Formats: sequence, structure tokens, C-alpha cells
Amino acid sequence: MTSASIDFELPHVEVDIWLPVGKEGREFTYADNRGLGLDLGDLVRVHLRGRPMNGLVIARRTSKSINYLNKDETFERKVLSGVDELIQKAAVDKEWRLWLEEVAVSCHISPFRMLKAALPPGWLGQRNLRKQSLQDLWWVYLVDISFDENLLTRRQAELIELLKNSGGGLWQKNIYKSGFSSVILQNLIAQGFANREKRKKDLDYDKKDKPLTCSSLKLENPSQLTCEQLDAVTTYGDLNPGDKLLIWGVTGSGKTEVYMHIASKELALGKSCLILTPEIGLIPQLVDRFKKRFGPRVHEYHSGCSDAERVRTWREILATKEPLLLIGTRSAVFLPLSTLGLIVLDEEHDSSYKQESPMPCYHAREIAFSRAVKTGARVVLGSATPSLSTWKELSPKGSIALARLEHRISNNPLPGVSVIDMRQELSCGNRGLISRTLMQHLAGLPEAGEQAVVLVPRRGFSSFLSCRSCGEVVECPNCDVALTVHRDGDGREWLRCHWCDYRSNVGTHCSECGSNAFKPFGAGTQRVMDYLTKELEGVKLLRFDRDTTRGRDGHRKLLERFASGEADVLVGTQMLAKGMDLPRVTLAAVLAADGLLHRPDLFAKEQSLQLLMQLAGRAGRGERPGKLIVQTYCPEHPVIKHLVDGRYEEFLRKESLLRKEASLVPFSRACLLRLSGESASCTATAAAALAERIKPLCITQGWSVLGPAPSLIARIAGRSRWQLLLHGPEGSTLPFAEGFDLWSGIPRGVNLSVDPDPLQL
Ligand code: ADP
Ligand code: ZN
Ligand code: ZN
Repeated sequence: MTSASIDFELPHVEVDIWLPVGKEGREFTYADNRGLGLDLGDLVRVHLRGRPMNGLVIARRTSKSINYLNKDETFERKVLSGVDELIQKAAVDKEWRLWLEEVAVSCHISPFRMLKAALPPGWLGQRNLRKQSLQDLWWVYLVDISFDENLLTRRQAELIELLKNSGGGLWQKNIYKSGFSSVILQNLIAQGFANREKRKKDLDYDKKDKPLTCSSLKLENPSQLTCEQLDAVTTYGDLNPGDKLLIWGVTGSGKTEVYMHIASKELALGKSCLILTPEIGLIPQLVDRFKKRFGPRVHEYHSGCSDAERVRTWREILATKEPLLLIGTRSAVFLPLSTLGLIVLDEEHDSSYKQESPMPCYHAREIAFSRAVKTGARVVLGSATPSLSTWKELSPKGSIALARLEHRISNNPLPGVSVIDMRQELSCGNRGLISRTLMQHLAGLPEAGEQAVVLVPRRGFSSFLSCRSCGEVVECPNCDVALTVHRDGDGREWLRCHWCDYRSNVGTHCSECGSNAFKPFGAGTQRVMDYLTKELEGVKLLRFDRDTTRGRDGHRKLLERFASGEADVLVGTQMLAKGMDLPRVTLAAVLAADGLLHRPDLFAKEQSLQLLMQLAGRAGRGERPGKLIVQTYCPEHPVIKHLVDGRYEEFLRKESLLRKEASLVPFSRACLLRLSGESASCTATAAAALAERIKPLCITQGWSVLGPAPSLIARIAGRSRWQLLLHGPEGSTLPFAEGFDLWSGIPRGVNLSVDPDPLQL
């Protein structure tokens, strides 16, 4: 009897894998020699030069030759090493990836970097995620050899067949589940036909989705909607897939309630919903409200979640067929929800929706629009003070439908606004940071059992020169913006226009009134704290800014301390104005509104009015009426005027006329090229060279190049910052063709980033 030899060939699968090597990532070819059944979009773990890292399968081929190395190195024709582990099957879906590539083009970034930014942090990378959801299990795989049929029992042959049909490998427990005994398996391994090894198995990925048991959760019932809210819901119902709706309503007018109604309709249709909010500090309140209504299908995705939590949410989205409700900050706009019904951007005007650095510099609003078109979702923008860009696109002229909520649910009046002219304070001998009126109000808080929030504009907002006697601000003779004070390393100061590059010296006296109370403007939160502590005995203070709210739940913890009455006054930066709901706060104040008004920014006026109106919304949310006190040296400024008369749309109308006449954004396009480097001279030289290189290209396409100029904050963390500002026609694409490499010629040590449609300079 001759022994027949079966030539058993495994499918020899080669895969191209994107690995996070260098900034742009690189492709490497590996073999799927463990029968992982790899395919496009799988996230895998490999070793590269001895280091483990996660990469993405971007191509797959079956090759005829046996071109991988066996365990005992029996095959010499080895060229490829094998993939170690499958981290996530179908982590990236084809359509999603194609969409993301379009986004990458608009952000002027490579598809790889775009992908890396969109995936949960570290997922595509070298960092090892915490193994909390992973467990070691046996993985059984065929060893590639020619089988001598005579050596196999019938059951062993069947098991080999099963393994072959499963791509060459299976979890041991699944082999047992298929009815093979451990004896059969052990013999197969002992005879050298198969092998097994411990592998990580992700529990989340395999777990069956538990059906929601709403009865046990006691979910809250929806409110009976008001007429205005019903109208908004009806307008939403008339939208087509991909359409947009602005819900324009003051704080407390019931916008969130409308979002919840719309969301519940979408969920009932089996569609997922994405609710975005600009600041992480607003997440807890929102999550609480949605969880009460919708229970455990509510998930969070934002930088307050750990990397592992973000991976888990991502996997949940890939694995589950149930519609989900995701609440997150701007990065959540990339979540791969495929059956997406609704994307909400609450506080749509907020500049935190814009990512400025690192690249990709994107605006979540634009990404949401493009996502909605791709998935057939509808976009709802919510705001009390919509952005000029959104307002300009309202129908019938534009494509955004409008629903207004003009009444507050509680019928509480909006807070009154008092403007305090700080020039008068000075002429009365008060040289302090705080007016007498505000001081009195603050001092009276403990006795009244009330609280106040005091806004001190963020650092970097204090870079213009002004006169404290007459309010004169030094402006550019060519442009309608304040000149910016720049300081070099030696403390020398000079003035510069960010629009036209005009320069001048810093004077010591006001040209209008001759006063010597003439100096760069601004004070940080810490200085205000010190000042108030000294001046206001018996009033307890708490500081709320980036420094004091670090860490997980930093915002929430600090707000809880304030809410519990630990302090009477919360002193903080812009973050203060956003969404917090504290019933005992009756007073909101801004110490130096000028710090907001005179920023040489593209949207300075619009953003300061939005911020001040939002700040007003913090006061008087409880029983007692609220008040906003604004201190300024410029009470006649249009922003202050419209703040007082409350006519926000009138402001938008005037502002848009001004901008249209001057062809400023949003009636033109802008793009900011930011350069930074440790060496000031290298960075400046690189910026100048870049300007020369792109000028011809820009000019031929109707774009202009301003600068190079030092950035508003010329040095951060030891790096000098320079910038070029490009202006082009409205609706045009960036003046660099796709193949044009902006980065060629940029020396090592200098970083260049491209920020299309910047919100801030
Ligand atoms: P916004 O998001 O515009 O600030 P909210 O949706 O938070 O407004 O509503 C303000 C308050 O009014 C909340 O406490 C909310 O529960 C309540 N509310 C909203 N709509 C209704 C309604 N139709 N009936 C009763 N209460 C409502
Ligand atoms: Zn003056
Ligand atoms: Zn100028």
C-alpha cells in the first residue's frame, strides 16, 4: 500500500499594512500566516524591527508561493514576517475611509494622518492600550505541511477541514463547541499538524449586545412640547436627508428638549444620533439628561474618556446593530456610525468646534455637513447667537432651514446689562481693576446668599495698547483693527498690524489726550484673584481656568465645589460663559471687555458679542433675576451697544454688510499657514522662503499672501511662531493643487501647519 501525500496548501495571504512610522506613516507587507483571515480595514498588531505596533490592513493579495517563515524555519523562501494578532476586525469600513479621504484633501493633510487623527488615540500606533478588556485564550492554527492522509483519523481530517474553512485558525473553545474533543485536538498538535498559542481576545468585541430593559430603568417621560418647540420638530420633519436646520433660541428656551424629541424619533426608526457639544465641561449635564431619557444606549466620546474607553465605544459602534446615541466633543464627528439619522451641534457658533492644532485643522460643523450628505443624516445646529457663517446661509438665500424659540420655558426675563465706563472710574481716582459698582455687588453676595461669575479674558487677549483715560486704542492706519503689542526675548516691545504688516513703536503717551495711563492691556486670572482677595474680605473665591480644571472631570469637580457653596465668586476665563447651570448665580461680570473687543482677529467682534451674551445667560437661572456687568473703556463700541439693546440679528446684519464690502470672511476664504520652531531665526527664514515660494501660485489663483508675521502669541513653550495669512475668493479651493508639497523646503526643526478657514489668528 502506498501512502498518498496530499499537497495541502493554505491560502497564502499577503497584506499591506499602514504602520505609524514617521509622521506620514508607511506601508509594509506582511503575511497572514496564522490564518487570521485578514482583510481590508482590519486593525492588526505586528512587529517592526522588534517593536510591536498596531497598523491597518489597506491591501490584500493571495500569493501562490509559500513565502513566509515557519516556526522552525523549515521554509527558506521566507520574505515576509507574519501578522501577530488581529486587534479589530473591520475597524475601518470602506465607505467611511473614502469619506475620510475627502476630508483629508480639504484639510490639506495626508490620508494616513487624517485616519490617525480620526481613530481613537493610540489605536493606530505604538502605545499599548491598557489590557483591561482583554483576556488570554488559546488560538489553534494549522501548520502548513503536506498531510499524510494515512496518519489522520476521520475526525482529525474533519477538524483540519474545519480549520481550513475558517481561514486556517480558530479559538480553541470554538473548536470544542463544534463538537471536537480535546483528545482529537491534542493528537493533531502532537503529530505536528496544528499548533496553538495564547492570544488576547477582546471580550467587548464578541459580547452579544444586551437588549435594553427599559422597564427596570424607569426612564423619564418626554415633556409636552410648547408650540414653538412643536414647530421646530415639524420643521425638522420636513427636512430631506443631508439637510440642515438652525434652532435659534435663547438659553432656557428648550432647545435641548427639542434635540431629545428629534433623537427619539430617529432612534425609533433604527437610526443612530450624534450630539456634539463644544466643551468637555458641558458633557456631564448633557449625558445626565439624555441617559435619563434614553438609558444605556447613550455613550460618550471625548478627551475626558480614557483611550481604552474610546476604543470600547468605537468597537461598540462597529459591533452593534442597535441604534446608539453618542454624545461627544468635536472629535466624535468622525465616529463611524453608519446608520446615522441625526447630528446635533449644540452652541454651533462656538469656536471650540474648530481644531486649530495639531493638524488636521477642521471645523466640526463642516465635517458634520459632509458626513450628513454621505449618510443621509440631518444636521441640527443650535444656538442663542448663531455664527455669521451660519446666519448667512439661512434659507431662502442659503440652504439652512430655521426654527426660532423666542420664549424661555421658565418665563424668567433675560438678565439686564449694565455697562461701566472704566474711563470714569479712572477720572474718579479708581486705578484698580474693578469698578466701585462691581465691588459693591461682589461684597454683598455672601449676605444675600448669592453667587457671581467673573470673566477675565484669556491670556493672549491682552496684546493691544490702550489709554485708560480716554479709551483710545492704537489702531492700524490702514486697517480697522488694533495693533498688536509684540515682545521679543529682551523685553523690547513694538506694534504690528496682523493684516497689512504695518509696524510702529510703542508710545508712552496717548495721542488723543496726552495721558500717560497708556499701556498694554490685560490681567490674568491669577492677578485678578490676588487683587480680589486683598480687596474683598469675607468673600470666598474660586479660580476656574485651564490650570485649575486639568485632569479627568476637572471641570465638573470644580463646578461642584462652587455649586455646593464653597465660594461666592468664580473667577475664570472664557470657559465660564459656557453652558453651566447654577441657580444661585445672579451676577455675571466681565472685567475687561476690551480684551475681547480689540483682538485683531477675523471674527473678534462676532465672537465677543456671542461670548458676552452667553455670559449673561449664566446669571439668573434660578428664582432671582440676573444681571450682567460689563466693564470697558469703550462703551460706544458696536458690540457693547448691541449687547445692551439685545439685538443680535441687527448686529449680524451690520457686521455682514461691513464684511461683504471689505471682502472679509465669510465673504472670502482665508487660510493660515503657521510655522513654529525652537530657533527664532530659522523659523522666520523658513516663513519668508515659504511666502516667496507660494506667492506666484497664489496670485495666479486670485489669492493674496500676507506676512510672514509673528503670531499673536509670538512664542509658546520655547517655540517661535510665525504665520502667513492667505486670502482668496469665497467658495474657492485652497490655491495649492493636491500634488503641491508645501512642506518641501521647510527645514528640520520647523513645523508647518495648514489651517484652512481659521477662526483665530
Ligand atoms: P436650552 O437647551 O435652550 O437651554 P432646555 O431644553 O435646557 O433649554 O430647557 C430649559 C429648561 O426647561 C430645562 O429645565 C427643561 O427641562 C425645561 N423644559 C424644556 N422644554 C420643556 C417643556 N416643553 N415643558 C416643560 N419643561 C421644559
Ligand atoms: Zn487717551
Ligand atoms: Zn493694517
